[in-house]
Amino acid sequence: MAIWKCNECGETKEGRCKPRKCPACGASGTNVFEKAEEGNK
Ligand SMILES: [Zn+2]
Repeated sequence: MAIWKCNECGETKEGRCKPRKCPACGASGTNVFEKAEEGNK
């Protein structure tokens, strides 16, 4: 798992794949989220 951070609102989301849409601000696109932290699992 990795931590993904929204470039628009700063929302963070944990997941294996990069989210394509932010549930908090509704921003969508391939560059909305960037990896903030690499998980161990
Ligand atoms: Zn957002």
